[in-house]
Amino acid sequence: MMFFMDGCNKVTEQASDYLDGNMSLPKRLKMRIHLLICNHCRNFVHQLEITIGAIKGLGCTKPVSDEDVEDQVKKLIEARKRE
Ligand SMILES: [Zn+2]
Repeated sequence: MMFFMDGCNKVTEQASDYLDGNMSLPKRLKMRIHLLICNHCRNFVHQLEITIGAIKGLGCTKPVSDEDVEDQVKKLIEARKRE
């Protein structure tokens, strides 16, 4: 059963690849199984999905780098906390 289980750290690291569809099928399946059983990571991925959707919805025409996304994600999370 451990084969199917990724740690939460790994899921957090790979969450943006997962949302981009930039992930092999076996990895995706492991991720999905983890998300089914782990409430914490499910919330995290959901939050990230909303945030990335918001960034892409801002009309960025240039490709967004991982650093940009990470930066924006942090800013948006901070901004949300202050609301
Ligand atoms: Zn988890």
